[in-house]
Amino acid sequence: SPALVWFRQDLRLADNPALAALDGRPALLVYVLDDEAAGAWAHGGAQRWWLHHSLASLTADLAARGASLHLARGPATRIIPQLATAIGASEVIAGRLYEPWARSRDAAIAEALQAEGRKLSLHTSSLLHEPHRIRTGTGKPYSVYTPFSRALFALGEPPPPLPTPARIETLAHPGLPLEALELLPKRDWAREFPQHWQPGEAGAAARIKAFSLLNRYDATRNLPGIPGTSGLSPHLRFGEISPRQLWHAARAAGVTGDATFLKEILWREFAYHLLWHRPELPEAPLQQSFANFPWQPDAKLLRAWQRGQTGYPIVDAGMRQLWRSGWMHNRVRMITASFLVKHLLQPWQAGEAWFWDTLLDGDLASNAASWQWVAGCGADAAPYFRVFAPVLQGEKFDADGAYVRRWVPEIAGLPDKFLHKPWEAPEIILRGANIRLGVDYPRPVMDHGQGRARALAAYAEMRGAA
Ligand code: FAD
Repeated sequence: SPALVWFRQDLRLADNPALAALDGRPALLVYVLDDEAAGAWAHGGAQRWWLHHSLASLTADLAARGASLHLARGPATRIIPQLATAIGASEVIAGRLYEPWARSRDAAIAEALQAEGRKLSLHTSSLLHEPHRIRTGTGKPYSVYTPFSRALFALGEPPPPLPTPARIETLAHPGLPLEALELLPKRDWAREFPQHWQPGEAGAAARIKAFSLLNRYDATRNLPGIPGTSGLSPHLRFGEISPRQLWHAARAAGVTGDATFLKEILWREFAYHLLWHRPELPEAPLQQSFANFPWQPDAKLLRAWQRGQTGYPIVDAGMRQLWRSGWMHNRVRMITASFLVKHLLQPWQAGEAWFWDTLLDGDLASNAASWQWVAGCGADAAPYFRVFAPVLQGEKFDADGAYVRRWVPEIAGLPDKFLHKPWEAPEIILRGANIRLGVDYPRPVMDHGQGRARALAAYAEMRGAA
């Protein structure tokens, strides 16, 4: 009997265990846009842009094989059982999801299908390992990254990726046209995205091929001014490439042992491990003591940060890269996030929400785990009292200013010496570079020393109250 393959976060044909499980059976291939179930964590704006183009790409890849994708919109708890009944499917096959809302939705769907004698089969598709299978020696979930990553390395190499099925026989069942999902923004703030990205499986493959610095990753990964990281995160987010494919591609390119690049893939696994075992991760601090942290919510400061108008060039460059390209370099994510929660004392959840809406790779597990890490309230987090100095960070990781000059062009004329601290430039230098501080480019919204002292005082207050 036919089956239903439900695409979710695995919008690819290669190494897709759900497709492989068909084993020649005819199937209805389905994607459901289900904003209701996800609630506050429905796809953010940037992710919706990506999803539109990724679905277009998947549809075209399937069409080239004489196959089709059925699109639907609404609660999957209703749509999936209905479609399964309509085509007489005995089985619904999908890649497993780990978001708390998706887990409860899958449980409800499994139950509804079972009541009709059908089953829901979930495969490991977007992670290397199932988070519930990884345990410490004493049988507990991990809360510290290093032993977690060691345990994963000790499991050996992941199995080789599955090939693209030679033939996929799909059932025709009229669905919605892609436009009916209304994924593209009404106001075209995404107009620069196509310069940076090619969503879809082919785009992911091209991206790996183009990542020529992979073997110099240790030296290049912290430099935002060069393409020193893979830029694969949005492709991974939508499953246009699996972590297993990426792992083996890295090996094939000469990456050996427990290289840093592989460890980064394991940071992603760790974030999912945390989300699985601590489903409150996206909303609440994992460290209880932070529940009463004296944040000072301030709409004006938050807005200055969001718009890249803080007066700190490295912070502003990052926030503008995010807005214009839908992505930000990891080093700068750490700097901008630290600046928000420490210098500006804004709750990390406000930054997390902004990243969720603007990042093409917005990923519930990695985003939440990273924000908690920076804010010092997560598992295995950076201690809160370690406050990044934005000027020193800029001078160290963007020494030639290539990154700041690209994204904050109004200060590009400053000499390197003052590029990361325009407020220290003598008037004659500013005039020579055509900059009126406070007019063309803001003065710092917060003095570094003052911001640092205020952050430490807030931390002491929290500890005192505990
Ligand atoms: P590469 O350096 O090429 O790494 C390869 C892959 O490893 C990445 O694509 C990613 O899947 C994974 N990876 C690398 N670093 C990390 C990390 N620290 N944590 C988890 N996975 C990692 N990553 C997301 O995918 N989605 C998010 O929403 C997200 N939010 C973040 C928020 C903050 C505040 C911070 C500090 C980091 C966040 N990250 C997030 C992690 C990291 O910044 C990105 O994964 C990385 O910048 C993606 O670029 P890349 O593909 O070039 O990475």
